[in-house]
Amino acid sequence: MSDRHDSQSGPETSRRQALGAISFLAAAAVAPAAAAQATGAARQAAAATAALTLADLGFNQERNEYTLPPLPYDYDALEPFIDAETMRIHHDKHHAGYVRGLNRALAMLSEVRRTGDAKLIKHWSRELSFHGSGHVNHTLFWMTMAPKSDGGGRLPSGELENAIQASFGSFEDFSMQFQAAGRAVEGSGWGWLAFEPFSRSLLVMQGEKQQNMLMTGVVPILGVDVWEHAYYLKYQNRRGDYVKAFMEVVNWNKVAELYTRAHSVA
Ligand code: MN
Repeated sequence: MSDRHDSQSGPETSRRQALGAISFLAAAAVAPAAAAQATGAARQAAAATAALTLADLGFNQERNEYTLPPLPYDYDALEPFIDAETMRIHHDKHHAGYVRGLNRALAMLSEVRRTGDAKLIKHWSRELSFHGSGHVNHTLFWMTMAPKSDGGGRLPSGELENAIQASFGSFEDFSMQFQAAGRAVEGSGWGWLAFEPFSRSLLVMQGEKQQNMLMTGVVPILGVDVWEHAYYLKYQNRRGDYVKAFMEVVNWNKVAELYTRAHSVA
């Protein structure tokens, strides 16, 4: 059994474990510096993991676990489009729960390796995928919104505008498809705008729960959370009104930055 122990320790091991774990996620991340050094097939693989960094995800090297990053603005900053009470519960309770679940799954998978007892491997692997994706998705979600006073809803320009036109015809056609996809998610999930590195185009996708139905290899750069916890206090059953309001606070500058990161390493 002793050869199953994680005998190495220290920051480098922690970092490798973190990256290894996160490569399982649907919308995962690596540090851009590492991605920039990669070549050939490694670059292609890195493309799937480029939109966020470990720092974005609040990874604490010393404790070897993820922490909940603070909201990049006040709870009430997105009013009246998204209300403060929803933001507070969503971030402080729901997102915090995904971070806890991710750390727990990583710890339990470490325990599986230590003991060699893998009878619960399916359970903990699913927990890793669900909570890890939940953490990545919500980190991206907060980051890609902004108050009106800070550019929220101001339409994209430059490289991203061109990419949207090339992939969807026009921003209006993209917006129609994105809102329709978000409205129509069955149950709990997400509407996504994602970079697809094989054809180097943008796709609108749906996600169920936190990760299902997302195409392998795509890099999400914008997501609208359509779980009821994201809108029910203010919008009740009117999910379409919420998705429309979300468009008013999209931080397209940030989405453009994530787009550049995603396609520059692919
Ligand atoms: Mn959520």
